[in-house]
Amino acid sequence: MTFLFMSANIPVNLYTVQKPLVGVTVENKSLTTLSHGPKNDVRHVVIRHKEKLPYLPGQSVGVIMPGIDPLTGKPHKLRLYSVASVRNGDFGDGQTVSLCVVRHFWDNPKTGEKGIPGLSSNYLCDLKKGDLVTLTGPVGRHFLLPDDFKNRDFIFVATGTGIAPYRGMLKEMFEAGFEGRVWLYFGVQYGDVVLYDKEFETYRKHKNFFYIKAISREEKNPIPSVIPTRENRMYVQVKMYQDCKALGETLAKKDSMVYLCGLKGMEAGIFPVLEKIGAEFGVKESFVAKLKAEQRLRVEVY
Ligand SMILES: Cc1cc2nc3c(=O)[nH]c(=O)nc-3n(C[C@H](O)[C@H](O)[C@H](O)COP(=O)(O)OP(=O)(O)OC[C@H]3O[C@@H](n4cnc5c(N)ncnc54)[C@H](O)[C@@H]3O)c2cc1C
Repeated sequence: MTFLFMSANIPVNLYTVQKPLVGVTVENKSLTTLSHGPKNDVRHVVIRHKEKLPYLPGQSVGVIMPGIDPLTGKPHKLRLYSVASVRNGDFGDGQTVSLCVVRHFWDNPKTGEKGIPGLSSNYLCDLKKGDLVTLTGPVGRHFLLPDDFKNRDFIFVATGTGIAPYRGMLKEMFEAGFEGRVWLYFGVQYGDVVLYDKEFETYRKHKNFFYIKAISREEKNPIPSVIPTRENRMYVQVKMYQDCKALGETLAKKDSMVYLCGLKGMEAGIFPVLEKIGAEFGVKESFVAKLKAEQRLRVEVY
């Protein structure tokens, strides 16, 4: 089965490193409490652009921070960030793009230095109202909703800032009178850093929306012998397996789709669960391979 996307209408690479778009920061708000330290500081950053920047939820834009990269002596390379708004932006005027950015920190094994701040993420998280931001893109053709989404079933899975694309997608789906069913599995470390939680909670009024949070540092995995997790933490794949029956019935529908977005490596925990679900529903071959071949599995990890 092939799925039609409006490929002709997907805006890509309208702005490049050579010809970027300069926008201005209009909002930078914290989405988390700071009780768990700067690594859990996630920001919702809204950038206003005068020129047109058409994009779709599920696409990303590039950000080029100002200055010279000390490593290369050249201007900084662009970093990609998923669009976290609907296509008309948070203010509905088609002139803003929103990003959901977590401060990145890393350890250097060569020097032993720990907690080195990532350049671009900390630059974005520190933006002030009025600061200019250089953008490229949009990019991405594969992590989009199909045109005929209205009656399909979807399983959205996110870890951390991987929630960004679903914010726009879900809003657009419900505004368009979505009639299928959609599961949102969201994995975060702590209950008070569930990004956009209030927004997603409001969708519970739709009886076809199922919102399931996996709080890894606060909940224990009750089925470690079936779905093993590090230190028996509660991860999204545990919650998915607990819903095996409903998800299996959904995935048995030939036009249902699964989307994964967030931390690189999340597939390693989730694919075996998809395989188990497939096996329990009588799929003989690899269910993941089947979903991929049928273009029903979309993955965006970083
Ligand atoms: C499609 C896509 C979508 C994304 N969407 C989002 C999103 O919505 N939100 C979000 O927060 N992030 C997102 N990201 C991640 C984002 O692009 C950046 O990778 C992230 O913000 C870290 O960038 P940074 O500049 O802060 O870190 P950097 O400074 O670039 O560091 C990143 C890594 O580079 C290595 N490194 C850096 N400097 C050195 C050095 N001197 N020597 C050796 N190694 C070094 C380290 O391994 C470090 O962990 C996305 C990525 C992709 C590909």
